[in-house]
Amino acid sequence: MRKKIVVGNWKMNNSVAESVQLATEVVEALGEGFSGCEVGIAPTYLALDATEKVIAGSEVQLVAQNCHYENDGAFTGEVSARMILAVGCSSVIIGHSERRQYFGETNATVNLRVKKALSEGLKVILCVGETLAERESGVMETVISSQVREGLEGISDISAIVVAYEPVWAIGTGKTASSAQAEEVHLFIRTLVSELYGQPSAEKLRIQYGGSVKPSNAVELFAMPNIDGGLIGGAALNVDDFVAIVKAASN
Ligand code: PEP
Repeated sequence: MRKKIVVGNWKMNNSVAESVQLATEVVEALGEGFSGCEVGIAPTYLALDATEKVIAGSEVQLVAQNCHYENDGAFTGEVSARMILAVGCSSVIIGHSERRQYFGETNATVNLRVKKALSEGLKVILCVGETLAERESGVMETVISSQVREGLEGISDISAIVVAYEPVWAIGTGKTASSAQAEEVHLFIRTLVSELYGQPSAEKLRIQYGGSVKPSNAVELFAMPNIDGGLIGGAALNVDDFVAIVKAASN
């Protein structure tokens, strides 16, 4: 039985003060009500330190939205795995479609980041997903297969990896993959991982769904056998919606 995992990706939203406020509200609202589900929040880098102080002592985990593949050096604007670990992050999101789309991330740079994060002791949420054009032209499986294979290239142990399937056409658009569409791709990913790493590892791998998850669709999505929680964007910025989604995953 895989424990569900719900992570709020706050993206480039909320000042430090607003992040502290939202994190405080999340911790208070969740109370003891989410056993059976792992929960994380991913504020901006700037707010990681202050947010950590708010969630310390609770079961909410601190997650970073990205990290670089070098420890330090001349990489203006970047933040290393060691740096996010030092402020209390336990996990990092890598390969989000917005990083791929706007910041030139490729499967190769995603792979470098995944390897570095793992080697520093972080858990990794590896994001994969097809665009609408890729889905409609019938190359969805090829795209996702490359993202998984190349993103995990050279990694022999996937026990600290969570995969997030996020169809690009469903992110921030209000369009959600139906639970059947999402389940089909999750099963495809698990089967692929089984070929690469063997069935026991594939059975343990948690695969989150991301793309306009809301309280109104969370229960149905999380009821699917291969959907092990969610990576939540817009709805994670509203405490009531986020907590409702966590509770949907806890039941
Ligand atoms: C995301 O960015 O990871 C995401 C799933 O966003 P949204 O929930 O807003 O679609």
